[in-house]
Amino acid sequence: MDKHNSFLVPYVGLKQEFEKRKNELLAAFVNVGESASYILREDVKHFEVAVTKLLGVRHAIAVNSGTDALFLALKALNIGRGDEVITVAHTFVATISAIVHSGAKPILVDIADDFNMSVELLRQAIGPSTKAIIPVHMNGRCCDMRSILAVAEEHDLSVIEDAAQSMGAQVDGVYAGNFGVINAFSLHPMKNLHCYGDGGFITTNDSNLADRLLRMRNHGQSESRELLEFGFNSRLDNLQAALLNVNFKYFHEDTERRRAIALRYHSRLSNCEALKLPRPPQNDAYFDVFSSYPIRCVNRDKLRSHLFNKGIECFTHWDKPLHKNSKIWSEKHALPMTESVSREVLSLPMHPFLSDEQCDYVISVIREFF
Ligand SMILES: *Cc1c(COP(=O)(O)O)cnc(C)c1O
Repeated sequence: MDKHNSFLVPYVGLKQEFEKRKNELLAAFVNVGESASYILREDVKHFEVAVTKLLGVRHAIAVNSGTDALFLALKALNIGRGDEVITVAHTFVATISAIVHSGAKPILVDIADDFNMSVELLRQAIGPSTKAIIPVHMNGRCCDMRSILAVAEEHDLSVIEDAAQSMGAQVDGVYAGNFGVINAFSLHPMKNLHCYGDGGFITTNDSNLADRLLRMRNHGQSESRELLEFGFNSRLDNLQAALLNVNFKYFHEDTERRRAIALRYHSRLSNCEALKLPRPPQNDAYFDVFSSYPIRCVNRDKLRSHLFNKGIECFTHWDKPLHKNSKIWSEKHALPMTESVSREVLSLPMHPFLSDEQCDYVISVIREFF
């Protein structure tokens, strides 16, 4: 038995999900095999159409990962050597590595207390070489897109949303994936909508950019196989798309369950003074989808051990801030909020298959600690 089975409350629910959807997933697999539809076939197209309908965006381009989605977005905008792209250090490393591999220079700014890019610090970071901004919608909550778009417009900068953690999140009734000129999503198994391996997609409302992205993911070939430029092999497998189309049917249901769990955590932990919680799901400008539930407290490591000893699996993804890792980053700068968050944050179990009883157990073990 592997280690994950030994937790009373595991961090992810992938095994339960597979058990529940097994028949449909296997049928999708059989269908792909029987029709020998492996590369850029109808399941990919079906997935792309489903994404455009859900998000209300004009074009969706399925690719092999969120990382390539970001990289292709930068390439399609001709961003490279000599350019600067502003993003945050409090993100998964792929946001920054995509900028590095494009040839541009990443400029890292600090976050606000919602864990997303500080708009004030973004403003201060803009210089003559700045070409683009990559706001990262962390933990299922959108950045302050109204303000970020205003800054971008004022300085004539492109916005690329890193929406890898926030499929389905909204601001002012508009879904993530509609704000930037090109936007990147991940379908990795840890994301809210996911396949069974690596995957991602790109959204845009610009038809010329959509055409360019479609050929860049497929060796620079147009849909009629004309070779127009050197491209990449960044296609999403048709098999992954077929499996995704099964999960897609449950997407709203899964999102509602995540929001219900967030509300449950909030209502029973918000009077714990030592804790800072994410904002609860509520009726305001932001529709949050809780890809994770990060709580903050000063004695985080002790709380983590306590939960671990009681069979609760939690995560501290951000233990070492990326800008403090000398193997990848040599500039010295202080990003105080990023640094304190990485010391204090602990992500509680959060997935659609978490039961109310498991949730209440986590809550009671935390309350007992304080
Ligand atoms: C997961 C993630 C990515 C990368 O996605 P992959 O599909 O794993 O390549 C990029 N940015 C953020 C914020 C992520 O969470």
